[in-house]
Amino acid sequence: MNNPLLEIFNTPFGTAPFSKIKNSHFKPAFIEGIKIAKQEIDDISENKDAPTFKNTLEALEFTGEKLDRISSIFFNLNSAETNDEIQKIAQEVSPLLTEFSNDVRLNEKLFKRVHQIYTTKEELNLTEEQDTLLTKKYKSFVRNGANLSDNDKIELRKIDTELSKLTLKFGENVLAETNSFELHLKNEEQLKGLPESAIEAAEMLAKQKNKEGWIFTLDYPSYIPFMTYIIDRKLRKEMAIAFGAKAFSDNKHDNKNTILNIVNLRYKRARLLGYNSHAHFVLEERMAETPDNVHEFLEDLLTKAKPAAENEFKTLTRFAKKDGINKLEKWDSAFYSEKLKKELFDLEEEQLKPYFKLENVIEGVFQISNKLYNLNFEEIFSIDTYHEDVRTFKVTDSSNNFIAILYADFFPREGKRNGAWMTSYKEQWVKEGKNSRPHISIVCNFTKPTKTKPSLLTFNEVTTLFHEFGHALHGMLANTTYPSLSGTNVFWDFVELPSQLLENWCYEKDALSLFAKHFETNKPIPMDFIEKIKKSSNFLEGMQTLRQLSFGLLDMKWHSKDPSDIKNVKEFELEAFSDTQLFPDVHENCMSTSFSHIFQGGYSSGYYSYKWAEVLDADAFALFLEHGIFNKETAEKFKTYILSQGGTKKPMDLYINFRGQKPTNIALLKRAGLLK
Ligand SMILES: [Zn+2]
Repeated sequence: MNNPLLEIFNTPFGTAPFSKIKNSHFKPAFIEGIKIAKQEIDDISENKDAPTFKNTLEALEFTGEKLDRISSIFFNLNSAETNDEIQKIAQEVSPLLTEFSNDVRLNEKLFKRVHQIYTTKEELNLTEEQDTLLTKKYKSFVRNGANLSDNDKIELRKIDTELSKLTLKFGENVLAETNSFELHLKNEEQLKGLPESAIEAAEMLAKQKNKEGWIFTLDYPSYIPFMTYIIDRKLRKEMAIAFGAKAFSDNKHDNKNTILNIVNLRYKRARLLGYNSHAHFVLEERMAETPDNVHEFLEDLLTKAKPAAENEFKTLTRFAKKDGINKLEKWDSAFYSEKLKKELFDLEEEQLKPYFKLENVIEGVFQISNKLYNLNFEEIFSIDTYHEDVRTFKVTDSSNNFIAILYADFFPREGKRNGAWMTSYKEQWVKEGKNSRPHISIVCNFTKPTKTKPSLLTFNEVTTLFHEFGHALHGMLANTTYPSLSGTNVFWDFVELPSQLLENWCYEKDALSLFAKHFETNKPIPMDFIEKIKKSSNFLEGMQTLRQLSFGLLDMKWHSKDPSDIKNVKEFELEAFSDTQLFPDVHENCMSTSFSHIFQGGYSSGYYSYKWAEVLDADAFALFLEHGIFNKETAEKFKTYILSQGGTKKPMDLYINFRGQKPTNIALLKRAGLLK
């Protein structure tokens, strides 16, 4: 069968031939791609020659190129332009891919070769990048039990199976508890305070359920506006308690024991592999490196942010008192925060939007990238896309060298998942002396243009575009030899540095004046708007910081010690929160039983990374502020030492090369107004 996915892409820049691909091509392509990759790996593991870096590690690194291209096309489509058929194919091919990666991980002959090279690596005269690649590949085997005895290997598989069941169950319980609650209001009086859009959504939900009135649920799009705007305090209390009680009641969806089982199994797994705790295991492959470093990081921020948080809490308490609230409770937080914010900064989203026409913002981010990194963006129309909304750009440097292809897909539609993300259709690498450039994509869900109005972005959408573009720069400017170390293939707590760093330009007058112009009058955005944006972005920052720190500390507490003597989940949690709580405890509630980030998603021992990334981006931006936000020398350093380096060196080394020193939290605290 003629399958365009399996042929060499005879297209401009070797881009994906979207218009020729039919859904029926995917499964056979996956099967063939896996077959080719398997053969390539067998050739390595069965090689009669003694193992060398070149015939084993480098060869392994470049296996499966076809499979990678097929996977990236398919899974990117499954996120950005999916349908029932694609989802069905995803379900069929996912087990094949898992089986293939397990085959590689458990390939003992292959591991033996890698192991032999690893143990003699001092004699091999490897470059730093090669050393990193070797360590990364070796660890990928060892962290999955390759060095264990046969009995321990069986034990490890048992734990893994059990853990995947438990995390799945955790998620199912949270979902069931979220779905089992609804607040059904029949009296219009009760909706007082709520914006029109939220009322409409609640009305629609009621109609869907064949009911009169309005229905509110614990899903964020329903819950958040409710807690922020509903004036009736009793109703807010009812919602908040229902929200906080998810999977904590003694019913069949209770997660208390699920959690205890998860943390104990994670601990057991880590010990089996020779680590002190699950956190030690996780942090080995993070910039933070050890639980002690994370604790020190969180505690230091806590000491500095707490006084500000306590002051803000007092201010908020005083503010609510005028409304007759004697004791500020959790269900008052969002409501009075919003009210106070409105009183302090009278700035409506609608006033800002005319200054952020999408085309202008894109032009702005291109110009900023040009000023910083000498990049040029030319829209081209010869490249295939998967949807007519997708735009494509050829990216070159000042000497007209080809740097990357950039796809940009801005508007929501059926078949696209929510949110915004950066991804790639092809990584960057150097093979046989040739630098093969990447194909990067950013996907967003921005306000669509209408017949009479262009797409006008909210300020939040503007920072989102800059954020994703920062990731895209990391991908586009990649300049490494090995694809698995290229671009955004870095440790998890380092990957948000380029993206969050670029957001900083959205708050700077000299950057905004490049593109924030009224779409009708072309007048630049008023200065006092910029001041208000800046100030309001720091509003109640101390309290927010304290909240983030409390989650980070709770996560670390669950994962950095032997958990076998923890009996009472709520008591354990209260103790973990003892330094960070401003509001009175709600005894019917528990955070841990629905803390999906750490018990379902992949954030266990990783919640701290949100704050970690902020510290990094603020500290990095401080250098730009010091020398000028368009200072070429600073930008060149960031490009040379960070953007182009991917994961070729330890992130802390990369950072110190750029900054001249380790990051400190001073810039973040200053930016957040927590340090005068
Ligand atoms: Zn990001």
